Amino acid sequence: MRLILLGPPGAGKGTQAQRLIAKHGIAQLSTGDMLRAAVAAGTPVGLLAKSIMDRGELVPDDVVVAIIAERIDQPDAKRGFVLDGFPRTVPQAEALDRLLAERGLKLDAVIELKVDEGILLQRIEKRIAEMTARGEKIRADDNPEVLKGRLAAYRTQTAPLAGHYASKGMLKGVDGMAAIDAVTAAIDRNLKPAGLARGKAAKPRHRKPGTAKAAKRAARKGSARGKRPAMAAKRVKKRPGQRKNRTRRRLTRVR
Ligand code: ADP
Repeated sequence: MRLILLGPPGAGKGTQAQRLIAKHGIAQLSTGDMLRAAVAAGTPVGLLAKSIMDRGELVPDDVVVAIIAERIDQPDAKRGFVLDGFPRTVPQAEALDRLLAERGLKLDAVIELKVDEGILLQRIEKRIAEMTARGEKIRADDNPEVLKGRLAAYRTQTAPLAGHYASKGMLKGVDGMAAIDAVTAAIDRNLKPAGLARGKAAKPRHRKPGTAKAAKRAARKGSARGKRPAMAAKRVKKRPGQRKNRTRRRLTRVR
């Protein structure tokens, strides 16, 4: 299974990605986490990305595309992956289309977590307060000022991706304001095969003609067919007032 989680900062992409990887045994590919690791390790990419990330702006497309290209070829991503934080611009989405096509891979769905921006700010402020209370280190870009910039970057550069994937028929919108479990359930429903999601019964099994089993089946069917018109005739006899055409209809249907 290959998925994209789309949504502004604080929409809950990370939380839902964690649940998806546990349930489906796929890898979480978070460009934010990869870039933070690069910053912490002081790699050339990290050195380039640090100040951009601290300002809440987007790291150049070619940098993140190169990171993802390398990451999707790793063994743990072979079973599938959920992309969290990538793509974030239309050129990144186009690069991803090419990367997947070159490998003969297809996306299963793009899940958009829809949230209210005003509530996002409250959510992130709450997250910061809770982390501070636990004595945890806070992300450099998790402060109200930078957050406004991250939201603006989302609105102008990332939100247009919804159109990119909607035109391919891949976009599934989910209410990200619902409780965490309800969001997980809504994502699950969107990942079910179309027929099952609508509660349709599974397709009947295809039975091979010409086998010994098929011959037995045919014999059973034949004898049952022989009985049914007689039974219907009996019922007709018991109700003499029944209209003729109704009897005929019933016999036709039984045959
Ligand atoms: P958020 O919580 O804002 O969704 P992430 O952890 O996904 O944050 O990313 C943090 C920062 O890393 C972003 O604000 C941006 O600077 C950089 N970043 C992450 N992914 C990308 C990407 N695909 N393209 C450009 N920049 C990225």
